[in-house]
Amino acid sequence: MNILRPGQDGYADEVAGFQTSVANTPAVVVAAETAEDVVAAVKYAAEHGLRVAVQATGHGLTEGTDGLLISTRRMTGVEIDAAARTARVGAGVRWGAVIEAAAKHGLAPLSGSSPDVGVVGYTLSGGFGLMARRYGRAADHVRAIDVVTPDGELRTVTPGADLFWALRGGRAGFGVVTALEFGLVPVTELYGGGLYFDTADLPSVLRVWRTWSMTAPDELSTSIALIPLPDLPMLPEPVRGKHVAHVRIAYLGQDGDELVAPLRAAAPVLMDTLKRLPFTESGSIASDPPHPHPYHGTNATVSALNDGMLAAIVEHAGPGAPVDTVLIIDRLGGELARRRVDGAGWDSGAEFVVRALSMVGDDGVETVRGAHGKLFEALAPWSTGRLLPFVYGEHDPAEVAESVFPPADLARLRVIKHRYDPASAFPAV
Ligand SMILES: Cc1cc2nc3c(=O)[nH]c(=O)nc-3n(C[C@H](O)[C@H](O)[C@H](O)COP(=O)(O)OP(=O)(O)OC[C@H]3O[C@@H](n4cnc5c(N)ncnc54)[C@H](O)[C@@H]3O)c2cc1C
Repeated sequence: MNILRPGQDGYADEVAGFQTSVANTPAVVVAAETAEDVVAAVKYAAEHGLRVAVQATGHGLTEGTDGLLISTRRMTGVEIDAAARTARVGAGVRWGAVIEAAAKHGLAPLSGSSPDVGVVGYTLSGGFGLMARRYGRAADHVRAIDVVTPDGELRTVTPGADLFWALRGGRAGFGVVTALEFGLVPVTELYGGGLYFDTADLPSVLRVWRTWSMTAPDELSTSIALIPLPDLPMLPEPVRGKHVAHVRIAYLGQDGDELVAPLRAAAPVLMDTLKRLPFTESGSIASDPPHPHPYHGTNATVSALNDGMLAAIVEHAGPGAPVDTVLIIDRLGGELARRRVDGAGWDSGAEFVVRALSMVGDDGVETVRGAHGKLFEALAPWSTGRLLPFVYGEHDPAEVAESVFPPADLARLRVIKHRYDPASAFPAV
């Protein structure tokens, strides 16, 4: 275990994460290597009246801390039990490591668009992955959680425990997870990739994708992203400098070409990357940026996606919008709507989630917030909720909790929170 304070060598590197728009200036950072290190750090924080925050990769950093930061990036153990089809991972593991380890046994995890995201932060947020319509949330497949609660006790929680329910979706505020055990699925390859369409075709492609995705089988997870691509030589020539519509596909069936035929016919396709690919290459489907940057993002789940809403999306987040926005619409439904497994906070009645993500520039986060605000105001009549994983850079955790959890879940989370963290040393719920 390494303990670092401001000004010491290694402090800045240990604090740095993927999200760079949120100031993170802990009084002390504990670079934990074991669950015992985490126990010691939590007890030290309690003795010194320090607030506690946790960071694995910084992809989901919302508020920075001036208290004690537990950095879990060295807790990188991955064990696969092929017969039981489960994985057990340490708190600092990223999805890429699990994907590689599971693939050796013909298995795959319920990972998301980016292999760089941390398994624990993702799963505690619910975990909306590439096979979510077929298998549900990653949180639904968790079998056991090792967690150091704010009293400094290392506990293993399993189905039936209130803490188990709270952690699967409630994310922060209940302790530090040191290890997670979860189910894997027998998947080795996908029909996946994307179709890129030109700026002028955005409105019609959005309409075709909306209608097509409504009748898609559960084996298909799909999203459409409106992306303002810069005019840079490293981007492929057909899409360079264009505001493209990027349809993303992850399909578990064998008849992919047949299934996407209506999309390929929607408008001239600028670039087509659809093919059968090993699950180990699933990160290429969305090709999320790998480099740290400052960003702000929010989302709304919606019960419909009518033509008026699509027009509002193009107006507020398409070409010519005042702030460059990556706008992603994901089809929900399937197993996500059935939700046979219990856990905190997921809008299982929604048909789509609309997410907006923008870089925070020199003029600050308020410009981005204002632009996103106009978009989501236009969608408000059909909005049914908000999903925790896609809220980025908002500083008030209690406010975020109020916006993402249904009232009954929020009330239950707060009772559990008070029981385990009466001093509110961990982030508020
Ligand atoms: C590029 C990108 C792609 C993404 N793709 C998806 C996607 O496809 N599907 C999806 O559902 N989400 C996705 N997300 C959202 C992501 O799941 C959340 O931001 C998640 O919280 C990130 O977890 P992390 O550990 O990587 O990040 P961190 O910032 O390190 O952690 C995020 C938060 O999780 C909590 N946390 C982390 N580790 C622990 C722990 N050991 N114990 C207790 N609390 C902990 C803390 O509150 C922490 O602030 C994406 C985010 C980005 C930036």
